Amino acid sequence: MVEFNSDRHILALSGGVGGSKLALGLSHCLTPQQLTVVVNTADDFEHLGLHISPDLDTLMYTLSGLNDTSRGWGLADESWAALDALARLGEPTWFQLGDRDLATHLARSHQLKSGSTLSAVTAKLCASLGIAHPILPMTDDTVRSFIDTASGMLSFQEYFVAQRCAPETRGIQLQGIESARPQIGFQQLLRSPDLGAIVIGPSNPFVSIDPIIKLAGIAQQMRTSVAPVVAVSPIIDGDAVKGPAAKMMAELGMPVTAASVAAYYGDLLDGFVIDQKDAAHAQPLRDTGLAVLVVPTMMQTLEDRRTLARQVVDFSLSLSKRFDGAKAGAI
Ligand code: GDP
Repeated sequence: MVEFNSDRHILALSGGVGGSKLALGLSHCLTPQQLTVVVNTADDFEHLGLHISPDLDTLMYTLSGLNDTSRGWGLADESWAALDALARLGEPTWFQLGDRDLATHLARSHQLKSGSTLSAVTAKLCASLGIAHPILPMTDDTVRSFIDTASGMLSFQEYFVAQRCAPETRGIQLQGIESARPQIGFQQLLRSPDLGAIVIGPSNPFVSIDPIIKLAGIAQQMRTSVAPVVAVSPIIDGDAVKGPAAKMMAELGMPVTAASVAAYYGDLLDGFVIDQKDAAHAQPLRDTGLAVLVVPTMMQTLEDRRTLARQVVDFSLSLSKRFDGAKAGAI
């Protein structure tokens, strides 16, 4: 076991549900000085005049312990009076807004309209919810995921929530990605000599992680960083734990395997974490030069999250020792 060196920092990249499970585990192993979570905002959308950031909300609710664990999204002890009243007024109810959750969207929208950046709003919301670990939106600019489907181009929430991921995916468009600037703290961290590892959570590669790593300059900075890049597979035993990742992979013509996720990330990765059910993929992946950790990656309990997080940190830092301060190919 590699001892975690307190002056090294872990940068975690996250979507919503899968990424936040690992981020919660990491927040139990690392201090706020040792961990930053950068979160996808390409799922954000405007609804009923409100700015909704589903992945940031999932991270905030999970790290504050306010999340609903049985439903798997939103806040615990939620009530739905506002949604019922909206229905009576003939407003759309396909996106379920709980009363307490609504307060987050009202506060965020109000602060954004008053001129705050999404970063500043997120920092304020996190402080109010007692979250000590930094959570950063990937950008303060607007990037939006659109799914090119057999039934036309759909905004992400239309595809994900309204149409329940039913239409066949032909491709994904990230509108605004070319001009969006990566969040400033994110950029600084990538350049920091104290960066110990970059951990890509077990999130959807296409709609949760791609928007982050396709921001201008990010993939190149990750490749040339002295810190190793390690991803945790969201695919276990040929299927996604939740959500459309496996369906999307199949529809995009990729084999639905953990190995296929590693191939998709390609030379961005130095290490890959796969489930023990996928142990057969380990050697072929190692033969490509990738370091591979095989452990249980299904996070059902808090202890599962903590254990996996500790293993991922140890594995990542063991790779940074291998680089001895300079990654092969780094400038
Ligand atoms: P979303 O934005 O809410 O869809 O969340 P993410 O993109 O962060 O996560 C979705 C992915 O998380 C899916 O592909 C799931 O397979 C994966 N996932 C969810 N729970 C787990 C888990 O316990 N272990 C692993 N390895 N993957 C998980």
